[in-house]
Amino acid sequence: MENFDQSKVYFVGAGPGDPELITLKGYNLLKQADIVIYAGSLINPELLNYCKPGAECLDSAYMHLEQIIDTMSEGIKAGKLVVRLQTGDLSLYGSIREQGEELGKLGIGFRSVAGVSSFLGAASELGVEYTVPEVSQSLIITRMAGRTPTPELECLESFAQHQTSMAIFLSVKGIGEVVDKLITGGYPSDTPVSIVYKATWKDCQVLKGTLADIAQKVTEVGIYKTALILVGRFLGEEYHYSKLYDAEFCHEYR
Ligand code: SAH
Repeated sequence: MENFDQSKVYFVGAGPGDPELITLKGYNLLKQADIVIYAGSLINPELLNYCKPGAECLDSAYMHLEQIIDTMSEGIKAGKLVVRLQTGDLSLYGSIREQGEELGKLGIGFRSVAGVSSFLGAASELGVEYTVPEVSQSLIITRMAGRTPTPELECLESFAQHQTSMAIFLSVKGIGEVVDKLITGGYPSDTPVSIVYKATWKDCQVLKGTLADIAQKVTEVGIYKTALILVGRFLGEEYHYSKLYDAEFCHEYR
């Protein structure tokens, strides 16, 4: 097992929910950590069972940035192994940049450990591929503007023009508006949509429909957070076998 560098803070991607979907490196860090600051609103608390007895586990939902940074820097100064546990992967809507900047001002570095993002957990939950030959070969990961604005060039309408696969984070609360924007942008209203609530958790829920009826289904069930909106024909019936396993294709890329 790797010896971790206790002079740095470890940002660890916790995965989408299933406690077995953290990486082995993330698991080893949790096992050895003295201090774990976790994002309580989205992290499966079962992950904290991997921590050693006596580890200090703090829910960042009750802390602001300054408190988080103070806790980290005091831990590092005391020679402790400090882990910041965040949902999915850190590179998407993770806010590690601001934490890293603040730590940097105190002369403290950080290391990131990748995690399984919820958009991957959601695809596995549905057993689908975002990239279906001749149907869609690209995936747009985005969100609707909320408290955090999105740059104008990245509005949902402009992405909808491509009619490719889309995974929309942080937006299920505004599903009606999302649907309007996607249709205005160019998706036909019979485009398939799946809502995946708490992908890979035991209480995961999936709603399937089209742009025409999904908003009503979401409202009826009452899903307003911890869900992804997946949109595109990759969820539909059309598919073509890939050339990869074609008998005529060379074996080099398999
Ligand atoms: N870094 C995270 C995303 C954090 S933003 C990742 O890689 O997944 C939080 C948003 O992610 C939620 O509003 C929701 O849209 C999505 N999300 C996180 N966990 C989820 C899960 N298990 N199932 C569905 N959506 C999830």
